[in-house]
Amino acid sequence: MSQPTTARTRFAPSPTGYLHVGAARTALFAWLVARQNNGSFVLRIEDTDQKRQVEGAEQHIIASLQALGLDYDEGPDKPSDYGPYRQSERLNQYKKWAESLLAAGRAYADPYTPRQINSFREQAQVERKPFLFRNHRPTNPPEWDGSMPLRFKSEPKPYKWHDEVMGSLSTGPEVIDDFIIIKSDGFPTYNFAHIIDDYEMAISHVIRGQEFIASVPNYLNLYEALKLSVPIMATMPPILGPDGKKKLSKRDGAKDLLDYLADGYLPEALVSFIATLGWNDGTTQELFTKRELIEKFSLKGIGKGGAVFDESRLRWVNGRFIRQIPLDELYQKAVGYLPEKASEQDDSYNKAVLGCLQERLKYFSEIVELSLFFYEDLPVDISLIANHKKLKKYETETLIKLLEKAHERLANLEPFNLETISSALNQLLADTEEKPVVLFSLIRIAITQAPASPGLAETISILGKTAVLRRINQQIEALKV
Ligand code: GLU
Repeated sequence: MSQPTTARTRFAPSPTGYLHVGAARTALFAWLVARQNNGSFVLRIEDTDQKRQVEGAEQHIIASLQALGLDYDEGPDKPSDYGPYRQSERLNQYKKWAESLLAAGRAYADPYTPRQINSFREQAQVERKPFLFRNHRPTNPPEWDGSMPLRFKSEPKPYKWHDEVMGSLSTGPEVIDDFIIIKSDGFPTYNFAHIIDDYEMAISHVIRGQEFIASVPNYLNLYEALKLSVPIMATMPPILGPDGKKKLSKRDGAKDLLDYLADGYLPEALVSFIATLGWNDGTTQELFTKRELIEKFSLKGIGKGGAVFDESRLRWVNGRFIRQIPLDELYQKAVGYLPEKASEQDDSYNKAVLGCLQERLKYFSEIVELSLFFYEDLPVDISLIANHKKLKKYETETLIKLLEKAHERLANLEPFNLETISSALNQLLADTEEKPVVLFSLIRIAITQAPASPGLAETISILGKTAVLRRINQQIEALKV
C-alpha cells in the first residue's frame, strides 16, 4: 500500500481517565503535523479494554482537546468514510483481519490456561532462559471458535527501523514473540487493533508515547504478516518530574488539563508550554503562538531525552501570555475570578483592578488574593511593618508622623488622579527626606495590608481618596495602640 500523500495523524486515547499533560503533548504534536501539511487529524477512541474504562472519560478528553483548540477532522462525533472511530465499533474489521492471518497460518488459537502459562514461565526461570510464548506453540492447536484467545504466530528475525524522534533503532530476533491479537472476550488487543486501524484509516504518522517502543519489533513482524506498509513512527520522550529523574506523577503537579484551565491558565499558554516539553526550534525562543508552532514545529526537533515538567515554568509562561492580552479581553476572561464583592463595583473599576494586576498575574485563580484589598478594608496586620526589612528599624512615632504627612498631602489633593498622585508622592519623598523603600512601603502597607501590590500611585488612584485616607487612619490608630 502506498503512503497517503498528505499527512493523516491520529490521537488514540484509551478512555481510562482525564487528559494529562503527556497525552496532551502527543495530541498536540500529531495535530501540528496534520495542520502544517494540510492534512487531517483523527481522534480514535481505543476502548478495547473494557475493565479499564471510565465512564465519561471520552467526553472529558474531547472537552480537553476542544479547550486547547486541538480540533480534529474525524472522530466519534465527526464521522467520515474512515470510521467508525471507536474500536468497540470496529470488531468486525478486526475479526476479518484475524481470520485472514489464521487462514495464512500466521495465527493460532491459544489453548492454555493462565496456570499453564505460569508454569511455562516458571520453567523458563529455572532454566534461566527468557520466557517466550513461541517456545510453547501447541502442535495441534484447536479450531478457533472465539472462546480462546487468538495468538499471532511470529517469525523471529532482526529488525532495523527509523523512528523520527529516536533515530535509527535495531533489535535481534530474540525480542520477537507470539502475542495475543484477539482476546477471549472477542475484543482485540491494542497491539493488533491499532495496526489495523492505522491502516484502514490511512494514517501516515504514528506519534505516540514511550511505553510502546519495546513492542515495535513485534509490530513490524505483524505488519509483514499482514502485508501492510509501516507508517512513519515517532516516539515521544518521557516527561519527568521536576527532579529530572522520575517519571512525572500527579504529586509533581501534573493535573487534569481541564483543571489547569479552570485555574485560569490560558489555552494558548498551555499549548506553548506543552509544545516546549522536549521540543525547541533550535533557538532559545520559549513562547510560541499556535501559528508559530504550525510554522516551526518538526518531529526532528524533539529531543530524545526526558523532558522536565516544571509547574513554575508553566506559571511563568502563562504570566507572559496574560501580559499580552488587551485589557478588554483580559476583563472578559478574568472577570469571573474577581472577589465576590466585585459585583458591587462597576465595570470600569473592575477593569482598572485587572489592568493594575496584569503585569504580575500568573494565573487567574490568584486574582482573589491579589485583589481583595481593592474591595474591602482588610484588618490592619501589624506584623507587615514589624517584619519589613527597613520599617522595623523605625520608631513607631516616626512612622505615625510619616503617615500623617501622607494623609495630609493626599487629603488636599485636587484633582485626585494618577498624575497628581504621582507628583504628590514624589513631593512627599522630598519633604520627608525618606527613601521610596521606606515611605512607599509604609503607605502601601497601610492601604493594602499586603506585603506587595501593584504600583502605589495606580493603587491609590483606583482605591480613591476616601478609602485611602480611611485606611491610613486605621493604620495610624493601630500603631498608636
Ligand atoms: N490507546 C493508547 C493509550 O492511550 C495510545 C496508543 C497509540 O497512540 O497508539 O495509551
